[in-house]
Amino acid sequence: MALRKLVAGNWKMHGLSSDLGEIERIAAAARDHDSVDVALCLPATLIERAARSAPGLPVGGQDVHHAEKGAHTGCVSAAMLRDAGAILTIIGHSERREAQKESDEDVRAKAEAGLSAGLGVILCVGESLAVREAGAAVATVDRQLAASLPRDIGKSTDISIAYEPIWAIGTGKLPSAGDIGVMHSALRRRLITAYGERGKDIRILYGGSVKASNAAEIFAVEDVDGALVGGASLKSADFLPIVEAAASAGKQP
Ligand code: PEP
Repeated sequence: MALRKLVAGNWKMHGLSSDLGEIERIAAAARDHDSVDVALCLPATLIERAARSAPGLPVGGQDVHHAEKGAHTGCVSAAMLRDAGAILTIIGHSERREAQKESDEDVRAKAEAGLSAGLGVILCVGESLAVREAGAAVATVDRQLAASLPRDIGKSTDISIAYEPIWAIGTGKLPSAGDIGVMHSALRRRLITAYGERGKDIRILYGGSVKASNAAEIFAVEDVDGALVGGASLKSADFLPIVEAAASAGKQP
C-alpha cells in the first residue's frame, strides 16, 4: 500500500524574521491538503518563532549534534531543537557530509540521537556525479545507507530516507524516473533487511531540483513517498504546487 506522502522543505541558510509571513502562507495552504504531510526544516534561529507563528505546521532543524550536551561550541543538540519547537530534523545532508566531513558513522550517531530525543529524522544519502557516471550509484548509495542507518529504531517509523543525488541538488538536473525508481527500490530492500516488515513503512523521499514542473512525474514513481525540496521551498508560490502534486498522486488508485 502506498505510504502517505511527506513534502519537506529545506531552507538551508535562508530565512529571517521577515520570512515568517511566507512560512504562515505555507502553513495555511498545508492545512488545505490534509492528505499530505508538509514540514519545513528551518535555520535553528527561526524554529521557535515559526512554531509560534504557524502552529500546526511541523517545523524541523537541519542537523543535530550526537551528544546530549557538553563542550561543543556552536552546536545544537536534539533536545535543544525539541525545546525550540522542532519535531523533526534533517541528518546527513550532502552539504554537511562534504563541508563538515560528516562520515556515515557520524550520521548514524546523529540519527540515533535525534530519534532518542523524540525527533523525526530525515536521513539523507546520495551519490556524486563521478559515481553515477561510473555506474556505481546504486551500490554506493546502498552501502552509504546501510552504514548510516540507526542500529535500532525501536517501534519508531518516524525516520524517512531522502535520496538526493549530489549532482541534482540546486542544478536543475534530474535522474530519469527510471533511475529514481531503481534507486528507491534498492533502498526499500535495504530498509527491509535492516528493520524487517517495519522497513516497508519508512518513507523514501526524493530530493534534488524538485519543482512544480517535475513533481507529478517524480511522485508517480513507485517507492517515492515524498520529496525533500530546497530552493523551491523558500516561496509558497513555488512550494505549494509541489504539495498539490503530492496530494494528487496520493489520490491515484
Ligand atoms: C536539498 O538541498 O535538499 C535540495 C533538495 O535542494 P534543491 O531542491 O534546491 O535541489
